[in-house]
Amino acid sequence: MVFWPNVPRMEHASETAMNVVCPHCNTRNRVADDRLGDAPKCGACHQLLLPAAPMPVRGAVLPKFVAGTDLPVVVDFWADWCGPCKMMAPEFAKAAAGRPDVRFVKVDTEDGPEASTQYNIRSIPTMALFRGGREVARVSGAMSAGQLLGWIDQQLQQR
Ligand SMILES: [Zn+2]
Repeated sequence: MVFWPNVPRMEHASETAMNVVCPHCNTRNRVADDRLGDAPKCGACHQLLLPAAPMPVRGAVLPKFVAGTDLPVVVDFWADWCGPCKMMAPEFAKAAAGRPDVRFVKVDTEDGPEASTQYNIRSIPTMALFRGGREVARVSGAMSAGQLLGWIDQQLQQR
């Protein structure tokens, strides 16, 4: 009797992959486009690369994070003392839960003042949308999950 070994699925040379920076250890990973929905894990720290929840990113790391992530990134600039920011937090989380194709990150402006300066954040909450490391849109003021997703879709359709 002959046992055929399990042949692993061949990767196509033309298969496209995305760069994704791990929100836990900041290591850049490459993930094939068709694996983005399979809960990919970081090659370095083995934690989920794309958790369906907002991830805190330190202000000092933000430029590297957005530059190394091919997926659109929505950044919520917030602070603990900001009432509207706290009201918005569950809405931001709700929006993140349904969109694995967009990275949702939170930057505590008190923790990373250099990011607020670099990105010229004048009021919070401010949501900034990045693609390929470049900011393409921003909006200030608390929003519902539906409003936020509507804004994101509108911005992404324009580009
Ligand atoms: Zn990692």
